[in-house]
Formats: sequence, C-alpha cells, structure tokens
Amino acid sequence: MGNNLVQITVNQAKLSIIKGDITQQATDAIVNAANSSLMGGGGVDGAIHRAGGPAILEECKQIVARQGRLPTGKAVMTTGGNLKAKHVIHTVGPIWHGGGKGEVESLESAYRESLKLAAENDLASVSFPSISTGAYGYPIEQASRIALGSVISFLRESVTSIKEVVFVLFDSRTFDIYASALQKIVAKKE
Ligand code: ADP
Repeated sequence: MGNNLVQITVNQAKLSIIKGDITQQATDAIVNAANSSLMGGGGVDGAIHRAGGPAILEECKQIVARQGRLPTGKAVMTTGGNLKAKHVIHTVGPIWHGGGKGEVESLESAYRESLKLAAENDLASVSFPSISTGAYGYPIEQASRIALGSVISFLRESVTSIKEVVFVLFDSRTFDIYASALQKIVAKKE
C-alpha cells in the first residue's frame, strides 16, 4: 500500500493518486466521465449509476430537459444518491481523434470546469477518474500529464474551498502512468 500512494501539497490543498474504485470514495463529490447525453453508459459512468441508484439519472434527465446535452469540456452537478459521496459532478471529456481536434483544451476544460463547480458549491474534497482514457481512447501518458497539470494549475491559481483532490485509478497500468507523470512534475519543480 505504501508505494501505491503518491501525494503532493499545492497551495494548502492535498493532491493524491490511489488505485481503486471511485464509486467507493467518500469525498464530497466524485467526478463522472459522462457522455453528452448524461443518460449513463459503460465504464465508470455505468458503475457510478449502478452504485448510486436512480436518483442520479433522474436529476441528469432534468438537467438535459432544461439545458440540453452537456457540451464536451463542461460540467454539471447532481446528487450522489446512495453513494458515500454527496454529489456527482458529471463532465464530458473529448473523444480522441488523433490530437488535432482540440482534445488537449477539451480535456483541460473538463478538469477545470469540474473543480470550478466544486469550489462554487463550497466542496472540500473531490475525486476524479482518468477522464477520456477508456472508451474515448485518449492516450494515457498524454492524458495523465494534462489531468495532473490542469488540477495543479487550478489549485495554484487561487485558494478555494477545495482542500483535497484524489485521482482514483482503476487499474495498475493507469495508476503507474499517473504515478510516473506526477514524479516528473514534482521533479521539475525542484
Ligand atoms: P471515457 O469514456 O471518458 O474514456 P471510461 O469510463 O471508458 O471513460 O474510462 C475512463 C477510465 O475510468 C478508465 O481508466 C477506466 O478503467 C476507469 N474506470 C472504470 N470503472 C471505474 C471505477 N469504478 N472507478 C474508477 N475508474 C474506473
């Protein structure tokens, strides 16, 4: 377990990466790698709806009825239903099309918009999955640098209610790639 956890502090906030199942996290919010329909799907999206129960989908439907599909890079918040987390922040990462279709900016935006929403709602802790690196096909090495970099720059820019951000990575390969990306980021700062 000891070396299965990497942690840094940014501007009074703790950023850590762990291997695990995000549906079991007890942070104030967990982030869902949703699709624009907000109607649930496979991967982490399906797991969150299964674990959280129908209240989450109910609220997603109301949001879509009110404002339409959720554009890539944006975020909305619902109840956490039966989850330990009180809230689910649904964001839509980019589908990988080779890197020339604004994928970097969209992925950065998905992380930043999620954190912005958490801060606007005075939340103290947020868990993220590895957005876009499953069905959406974003290469994990690149995605890991963007994910960590976006969160670190958000935290560095201003002190908000957010005191803890956790990346909850489902498989060893993804965890290892995030761990080495974080080491590199930390090494560059020193
Ligand atoms: P996307 O469509 O954004 O690529 P996916 O759900 O297909 O989203 O995959 C994103 C990441 O979430 C992948 O690394 C996948 O292994 C991971 N994942 C799947 N289930 C869970 C879970 N329960 N907790 C955390 N991560 C998960």
